[in-house]
Amino acid sequence: MAEPAFSLCVYCGSRPGENPLFADAARAVGAWIGQHGGQLVYGGGSGGLMGTVARATAEAGGRVVGVIPQSLVDREFANHDCDELHIVQTMHERKALMAERSGAFLALPGGIGTFEELFEVWTWRQLGYHGKPIGLLNVAGYYDGLLAFLRGSVAQGFMGPWQMDLVDASDDAAALLGRLAQAAQGAAPGPALRTVI
Ligand code: AMP
Repeated sequence: MAEPAFSLCVYCGSRPGENPLFADAARAVGAWIGQHGGQLVYGGGSGGLMGTVARATAEAGGRVVGVIPQSLVDREFANHDCDELHIVQTMHERKALMAERSGAFLALPGGIGTFEELFEVWTWRQLGYHGKPIGLLNVAGYYDGLLAFLRGSVAQGFMGPWQMDLVDASDDAAALLGRLAQAAQGAAPGPALRTVI
């Protein structure tokens, strides 16, 4: 198989959420990655939106790389259909490997695991540990409250507008994926991510 055109790390819920539009969006993201010859890097589970995006990527001919800690292999139903499934020892190893293998990051709706992953790559980016683009897909207004809170944080002087601008938040999956995939191809690698862990 040829080298993937780009490698995108997707963070999303290990549950499907209540609104069926969340799974629709996860399917659309996976299909887009596969149709554009890309590679998905994700947390390696087969449930929730994580499983949905992985299956959709594979069905559309994309490559799937999963990274899961040993302790979660059973709890998150590790996806043994991945093209590469890396079983690592710790959460830190998981996140570092996911970041190293990706040229861009995209968060879909999810819970605290998703938030933590998004905020980590965001803070790494603002500190210059990597130069990779970060997207937030705001499906059915799921992230409206978070975005409003963050804008309030800018207004209250705890964040600069430039920090907000490091995350590309959009409700248009295809347009956002296009920008991320293009930027991923020229992303500056930055220093080795392992050094910040
Ligand atoms: P959630 O959004 O809470 O459903 O979690 C989505 C994914 O994030 C799952 O694969 C979790 O195992 C993962 N996750 C939860 N906490 C962390 C963490 N601290 N670092 C990395 N991944 C995490």
